[in-house]
Amino acid sequence: MDLSYAEEYERFRHEVRAFVEAHRDHAPEASGVMGGRASDDLLAWQKLLIERGYAARTIPRAYGGYGGEPDIVATIIVGEEFARAGVPLGISGPGVNMLIPTLLAHGSEEQKQRWIAPTIRGELVWCQGYSEPGAGSDLANLKTTAREVDDDFLINGQKIWTSSAHVADMMFLLVRTEPDVPRHGGISYLLLPMDTPGIEVRPLRTMTGDAEFNQVFFSDVRVPRANLVGQRGEGWKIANTTLAFERAAAGDAGQMETMFQSLVQLTQAESRNGVSAIDDPLFRDRLLRLQARVLSMKAHSMRMLTCQLRSESPGVAGLVVKLRACELMHQMAALALDVMGELGALYHGSKYERAAGYWQTEHMQWLGFTIGGGTAQIQKNIIAERGLGLPREPKPAASRR
Ligand SMILES: Cc1cc2nc3c(=O)[nH]c(=O)nc-3n(C[C@H](O)[C@H](O)[C@H](O)COP(=O)(O)OP(=O)(O)OC[C@H]3O[C@@H](n4cnc5c(N)ncnc54)[C@H](O)[C@@H]3O)c2cc1C
Repeated sequence: MDLSYAEEYERFRHEVRAFVEAHRDHAPEASGVMGGRASDDLLAWQKLLIERGYAARTIPRAYGGYGGEPDIVATIIVGEEFARAGVPLGISGPGVNMLIPTLLAHGSEEQKQRWIAPTIRGELVWCQGYSEPGAGSDLANLKTTAREVDDDFLINGQKIWTSSAHVADMMFLLVRTEPDVPRHGGISYLLLPMDTPGIEVRPLRTMTGDAEFNQVFFSDVRVPRANLVGQRGEGWKIANTTLAFERAAAGDAGQMETMFQSLVQLTQAESRNGVSAIDDPLFRDRLLRLQARVLSMKAHSMRMLTCQLRSESPGVAGLVVKLRACELMHQMAALALDVMGELGALYHGSKYERAAGYWQTEHMQWLGFTIGGGTAQIQKNIIAERGLGLPREPKPAASRR
């Protein structure tokens, strides 16, 4: 692992830093860039970032991106500089982080032309229709069907825990097109406009107090065959491409550093009995332990970068990222609540609430992210079985046969 950057990259870092300093007054708040519908400020910010090559950097111009050569080091530097300044790196969410890389890998030329540009501009909001009442960790058990009728698929069934479905324009979803073949083989990946007749979205309220989740019901919903990504029955492979990008997005080292900086500021600002929290030995000890873990995650991302540059597989190192990152973010938010003392228990509606409930929300949301995209237990199974080569978990259904 080499932690130093070549001179050309240090020059590039200077350029990025100068850009951020010159434009940071136009940057929207960091909250609100993930999922949901983008504000006008955020749309304008995203447009500027694409023009300058800081967002959609390697997406071809033909699909509305900046069209830069793939350069992982440059991408990392952009992330570091925006994180350092606490300025959001444009729009994120299922469309930008998960669907676009999936379409680049598996989509038809027509699908890339049609969907990528409006998605990176933030004009199209996507949601992810994977989970069902009987298919979460065991995703291949999904039951929503799609039958081919003329040039369409006819969808019937139900999804659950669909984040942002109530505001989304489009859903990428998994359906069962081949009921008679083994479970993983009969799945297809479709792109569905949310205003198609026959879709009903019902909100689910979570412990954050907001209704970000939904149940989505499909009754004879028609989607053109042209919206099938890849081949019919080959959706499992494509679904896993999307999941890999979902899990990688959770382990963004820049995001961890930004949160840690905010935590340091909080411990400097809050005090008890006249002593600021950062000078309290117990809080200081926890803060330093978290700092060590943030730095180790940064070193870890450099290690994976080195592997990528050498075209080597990171192996088990790549599998631990989602689990460790989500736990770390949750623990940083937990320290923030403790530092605030009894005020940490307050939430929306209280006049003594700090930072508009930012830390309380982060604490609940990162607990949720240890579940979304594959639970902590499932991640541990993957690390054990695929990463460390431990014996596979017995499959009760198979052993009954
Ligand atoms: C914040 C958040 C956002 C989400 N957004 C979306 C979304 O937009 N779209 C979408 O489709 N889904 C979404 N989900 C759903 C998420 O993918 C599922 O909740 C997750 O896959 C777990 O499935 P489940 O809830 O059905 O739990 P289950 O699979 O029923 O698991 C219940 C418990 O059993 C454990 N368990 C299950 N199997 C095993 C095993 N083999 N070994 C050990 N332990 C096991 C699990 O770890 C868990 O603790 C979201 C969830 C959250 C929390």
